[in-house]
Amino acid sequence: MIIKSENRTVTLGDLKGVGPKVSEKLNSLGINSPIDLLFHLPFRYQDRTRIRPIRSLRPRDYGVIEGTIVSADVTTGRRRTLLVNITDSSGSINIRLFHFNKMQEQNFAVDKRIQCFGEVRFGVNGFEMVHPEYVFPASSNNNLIEQHLTPIYPSTEGVQQNLLRKIISQALDLFRTGLLSLDDLLPEFISNQWQLPSLAEAIPQLHQPSNLDEVSALLNFTHPAQTRLALEELLAHHLSLRKLRLSIQQYAAPVLTAAPELLTAFMQNLPFELTAAQQRVIAEIQTDVAKPHPMLRLVQGDVGSGKTIVAMAAALQAIHNGWQVAFMAPTEMLAEQHFQNCDEWTQALGIKTGWLSGKLKGKLRKQELENLFSGETQLLVGTHALFQDEVQYHRLGLIIIDEQHRFGVHQRLALKEKGLQNIVPHQVVMTATPIPRTLAMTAYADLDLSIIDELPKGRQAIDTVVIADNRRSEVIERIDKACKAGKQAYWVCPLIEESEVLNCQAAEKTASDLRELLPDIAIGLVHGRLKSDEKSRIMAAFKQGEISLLVATTVIEVGVDVPNASLMIIENAERLGLSQLHQLRGRVGRGSIKSSCVLLYHGKLSQNGRERLGIMRRSNDGFEIAEKDLELRGPGELLGTRQTGLIHLRLADLSRDKHLIPKVEEIAAEICKNYPNRIEPLINRWLKQKIQYGNV
Ligand code: ADP
Ligand code: MG
Repeated sequence: MIIKSENRTVTLGDLKGVGPKVSEKLNSLGINSPIDLLFHLPFRYQDRTRIRPIRSLRPRDYGVIEGTIVSADVTTGRRRTLLVNITDSSGSINIRLFHFNKMQEQNFAVDKRIQCFGEVRFGVNGFEMVHPEYVFPASSNNNLIEQHLTPIYPSTEGVQQNLLRKIISQALDLFRTGLLSLDDLLPEFISNQWQLPSLAEAIPQLHQPSNLDEVSALLNFTHPAQTRLALEELLAHHLSLRKLRLSIQQYAAPVLTAAPELLTAFMQNLPFELTAAQQRVIAEIQTDVAKPHPMLRLVQGDVGSGKTIVAMAAALQAIHNGWQVAFMAPTEMLAEQHFQNCDEWTQALGIKTGWLSGKLKGKLRKQELENLFSGETQLLVGTHALFQDEVQYHRLGLIIIDEQHRFGVHQRLALKEKGLQNIVPHQVVMTATPIPRTLAMTAYADLDLSIIDELPKGRQAIDTVVIADNRRSEVIERIDKACKAGKQAYWVCPLIEESEVLNCQAAEKTASDLRELLPDIAIGLVHGRLKSDEKSRIMAAFKQGEISLLVATTVIEVGVDVPNASLMIIENAERLGLSQLHQLRGRVGRGSIKSSCVLLYHGKLSQNGRERLGIMRRSNDGFEIAEKDLELRGPGELLGTRQTGLIHLRLADLSRDKHLIPKVEEIAAEICKNYPNRIEPLINRWLKQKIQYGNV
């Protein structure tokens, strides 16, 4: 097949309803041409094809109802409200309006027929719809019923769904008449084998679904047209990461030979033996970095599996060969802790470790940068400040990134550019958020994977209980006992609002309440707004055992390691993701003492909330928890894509469509082998502006 170039002679401006303003808004949605409109796919559908019996509605359903008005009253409580009760032969429901004028009020006359479309919620007086769309069919000849499912598109302020539908429908017309053309980039045998529609069939089906029988498939995203496009999108992502990986493989990297003596000396200073899993992963890295091409390896290991030691072993190998190592952590607090450990370990070996963070200023900073540039500093530990422009390395050979899920592809690339000219450093990235394997293969297809699947000997499972926060006093008693018996505890006040200030205030308040209730216990407080030396001072005091109870925001989420701490209280646990809870809980159970975790929840737990916290109670296995989290919350949370934009999928959903992923790999291999000229068009179609390739 000859690949035609996708037709771009028709422009957005040629479409009705698209002036400069709308055009700009469309651009902000990633739509720059009519072809892009065809690929601007609905992320859900509304079913307005039928009238639903009121009784059949459940909370969170969207649906059309039709009935008779029983009552319409204006109530003047906290907020002036128009409350209208409607019945059909099956049941009754309220609609609630907060904004209404006199005319509207009069329109809702008792005994009048009304049709409404909206979301059903569980209100004070039973089910209700707040501000639904409504019409009075008898008087207006209007009707909310539509022939087809209504597509709902990703949009932005100022672009109404109706407008989007109108514009997209014009693009579809151009497509039907042949003025716009699309290349079908999936080899035919795949569509045949899977009985999937062609692209030309699938696109209109998704925008303007026609067959009423397919409603439930479309609503559940199991329709063949959806599968067709999700498969193609996942394929495009996979190909782009594969390309990224190949492009990196073309560069030279330092050849790092093994350093058995240095490694032995290091391990002799440790108070424990490495686990078999740690040894295996160290060996995997050892072999990889001895090759002349850059290693890109993801080390996955559950909380407490001992990843830091593995990273250190890799660092020593680089240093032994005369190269520098950059070790980056996502938070100041974790970076600082790594620095302290590394500094102690390396001093014993005669190696110089340096420290850099955004907060390091003035003379100290200048000195640090000089030491780095001259090569005196062999290992540099710090935050993302490590890859700021002004930071120049003498001979950077290895980059270690801890808690990978906090960083995106772009940051990985930026650090890579810190190497010598034409020499790309090796990279080890570590994550304690165990990512389900299928997900890892898609999100990190550019990385090799090592898994530390074993915890150090003697670790005991953490007992977890779920308790309503009106039983706080029992929990406080328990802390009192534990601390008096020489144990240490954390009390975590997680994000309540999207405001750091408020969160820190909440933590401050909790700390002062606890100080009052537990006058004999030494209580410390850390949160994001403390100065960094103040934070370090408190963490050190906690580590030394001078503080028994540490009240904290989620700043302690990653990495913090105080083995004597054995009790963890997490407030408002129902608001956190499971993987995050697992991370937080992983702050205890790090020594050989039996540890426990109390998850406090506020108010009444929803069904979903109960299920989620139940998983925490039953499982200590980060992988199992991550799988469940993926099911219940979706991959965005897991990968931290919110912050990083790591994977941005339009139609596919890594959780829902995970059964497609093994297929995607197969197809990708097939395409690379037999259809290499389709790789670029596929990537361009789905990822356009997303990934910059390693242009080192
Ligand atoms: P994580 O994988 O969560 O980053 P760390 O590297 O912080 O784990 O290690 C957790 C704790 O376990 C640290 O106190 C570390 O010194 C200790 N540790 C690491 N490896 C072992 C081992 N093989 N045996 C016993 N303790 C270990
Ligand atoms: Mg760690």
